[in-house]
Amino acid sequence: MRDFTSDHSALALNTATLGHNLDGYGAGWSPEQVIDACAARGLAGIVFWRREIGTRAVEIGERVRAAGMDVVGLCRTPFLVGPLAPPTPQGIMDDFHASIDMAAALGTRVLTIVTGGVEPGTKGHGESQRLVADRVARAAPYATDRGVNLALEPLNPVYAGNRTCIMTLRDALRVCDMVDAPNVGVAVDVYHVWWDSDLAAACAAAGDRILGFHLCDWLAETKDVLLDRGMMGDGVADIRAIRTAVEGAGYGGPCEVEIFSVGNWWRRDPDDVLDAMVERFRTVC
Ligand code: ZN
Repeated sequence: MRDFTSDHSALALNTATLGHNLDGYGAGWSPEQVIDACAARGLAGIVFWRREIGTRAVEIGERVRAAGMDVVGLCRTPFLVGPLAPPTPQGIMDDFHASIDMAAALGTRVLTIVTGGVEPGTKGHGESQRLVADRVARAAPYATDRGVNLALEPLNPVYAGNRTCIMTLRDALRVCDMVDAPNVGVAVDVYHVWWDSDLAAACAAAGDRILGFHLCDWLAETKDVLLDRGMMGDGVADIRAIRTAVEGAGYGGPCEVEIFSVGNWWRRDPDDVLDAMVERFRTVC
């Protein structure tokens, strides 16, 4: 396992950590301010959300690379199924392709897929998983042509109604197998998988299909399952054990900090959040 105690060159920021992806939260830094602050701290790169990029994908991607970093990823595709997905299959695929185009323009290799929940008119997750696999399989060649990999991210089962139909890494791998495309893999997010006693074996089964690793913590007394994530070290997830499993599978890429925290971290000065992130990455991850 990599030693981060005196080296955070693998650390990346997911801008959700600064509250940028929701109106009214965070300090309102521009992408340029975020880039400068991350570069000043020697980070590996940044993961952006589509709403921050607008029509400036090429410009922002070049700015990140000029600062000596990478655009580590883009969040995210539309929900591909479920009650929160665009209303028509064509609308879903059009927005799916638009998200791939943005990832390509940014120059990032990883686009995260959050699947969406139970498809209206169906029960359980079987039919929704089949629909996701079909839609990802149809978009995968388009992504290949643009140098973009697609990372299916399993979400904590608390979201299994409306936001996800893959709750475990095993679920994500099963959908990967259904898709069977070389540029489709998975993302492992501590918040979503920390509870899974099968995680280490699932990581081993994933092998080189792990395309991203997301850091945060699960607070023992979580107040809001969407917006009360903890900073690494403040919760009960065994982050080192999870990283051991992820790296044991062969993953050697960036570790992105992704913390939605309306009551705590989003209220703080972004410079303080970034400093805390670096310190916790070195000491508890
Ligand atoms: Zn994540």
